[in-house]
Amino acid sequence: MAKQRRGGSPSRFEKILSGKRAELQKRIEQQRAQIAGAERDPDDEAAQAVWTVERELAMANLDRDTRTLAEVEAALRSIEMGSYGVCVRCAEPISDVRLHALPWTRFCLECASGNARSGPRQVHPEVVNSSVLQVALQARHRLK
Ligand SMILES: [Zn+2]
Repeated sequence: MAKQRRGGSPSRFEKILSGKRAELQKRIEQQRAQIAGAERDPDDEAAQAVWTVERELAMANLDRDTRTLAEVEAALRSIEMGSYGVCVRCAEPISDVRLHALPWTRFCLECASGNARSGPRQVHPEVVNSSVLQVALQARHRLK
């Protein structure tokens, strides 16, 4: 029972997704380098505190980007297999508006919001990062 896809050409999304994959791979590489670079011997406690926070921030970003990269790669595979743009949960086509906003999504809006309601409460990663960053900046400020 093949479903007809509404509008939107998958090849256009393939281009967007390939670009996103390249961007994520580059960022992941930079974050890995940053984490490795933090493996130094801090000679005072305050400097060590800053490094710890910066390292945690880089690790949180790395974790998030690694997960997004996996989703982007799964979306690229689904384009190859011809199943792109179809919700993996209810098998309904995902709206073009949603695909433009989140090209690697695997759920239609309805299923995604249903998931969010039943799943654990999620804090937006940007919010977490900005508060971690605040701590890092305050710690750095105290050093001066
Ligand atoms: Zn759905």
